[in-house]
Amino acid sequence: MKFETLAIHGGNLITDSQKPVIQPITLSTTFGHQEGSLIYTRANNPNRMALEQLLTQMEMGTAAAAFSSGNAAGMTVFQALPLGSHIIAPADMYHGLKKLLVDVFKDKLELTFTDLTDIENLKKCLQPNTKLLWIETPSNPLLKISDIKSLCTVAKENDLITVCDNTFATPVFQNPLKLGADIVMHSSTKYFGGHSDILGGALITKQNNSFWEQIVNIQKTGGAVPSPFDCYLLCRSIKTLAYRMKGHAEHAGVLATFLDQHKQVERVFYPGLTHHPGHEVASSQMSGFGGILSFLVKGGPDDADKVISNLKYFNNATSLGGVESLLERRAAVEGPDTKTPQNLIRVSVGLEHLDDLLEDMESALDKVS
Ligand SMILES: *Cc1c(COP(=O)(O)O)cnc(C)c1O
Repeated sequence: MKFETLAIHGGNLITDSQKPVIQPITLSTTFGHQEGSLIYTRANNPNRMALEQLLTQMEMGTAAAAFSSGNAAGMTVFQALPLGSHIIAPADMYHGLKKLLVDVFKDKLELTFTDLTDIENLKKCLQPNTKLLWIETPSNPLLKISDIKSLCTVAKENDLITVCDNTFATPVFQNPLKLGADIVMHSSTKYFGGHSDILGGALITKQNNSFWEQIVNIQKTGGAVPSPFDCYLLCRSIKTLAYRMKGHAEHAGVLATFLDQHKQVERVFYPGLTHHPGHEVASSQMSGFGGILSFLVKGGPDDADKVISNLKYFNNATSLGGVESLLERRAAVEGPDTKTPQNLIRVSVGLEHLDDLLEDMESALDKVS
């Protein structure tokens, strides 16, 4: 089955004798005792089962676990590690997950953040207690590209578990499990949900091993699980994921090229541009370059803020992956400790008509120059 087909047919577990085409939402928190039945919705629910089955197929894994947010999914991985384990993670790891590690896990895990676009950095950071390598590619918000295959090869030689945050690429464009990763992580809040109205997260594993059992145990007993309604909404949204991703990537590619040539723009970060330092690796491990780009506005943060306030269709808001275009000046959101350039704008390019988006961006930039 091709991706588009399984996205439409995979998220259905229909047991009703009236054969509804769409699986109903099972709101009941508890289930009558009988042989093999579900017991309680924190542990499992028909809508979550459907979603997890769909996620497993999408990432070509053996099992999936759905969570109430992307960070809850990440947290579960960190909790599943033995106390005192050493983690190697990218220096520009998604801000919220880095904050979780630094604030909440600082006394429980040993942390090293490094630039994983250079494999030598991974080798340099290895310690006897290193247990986990965290990969994120393309990264947020600099769109840095890490070579999943090479990193996983070194990780494997050193008995590390590798987890890859695949939120930006989605399985439409990149399959980390096929490139050697053990577990894929997603913020379903982004492209999976796709309409800026669901919070969710997911983990998908290549192997059903003891580490995975520990993750599922934390999911079911910790209870950071999505509601039946959110699981239903995600299955609904994922049906159009492939088509949305193709549209996002097409629009982002054209907008990146446009910005690249604009005199008010200092630099554009988009892996589809041939001058992007990760373009070659991205071309080898992705079948599309995704819908997120960022760019530096000439001048400083005030000029970037002016561009943002001049725009009509690009909403100034956090988050990404929805059908509507969103953008923000990341440094302002990430706070005083951020290493993100102050004049960087991250754009989640939406599915509005491309002409409208280009016209809007052009007029906003022209008003500043
Ligand atoms: C948003 C995001 C997360 C966190 O997900 P939430 O659903 O917001 O908890 C993790 N990684 C990346 C790359 C993200 O964009």
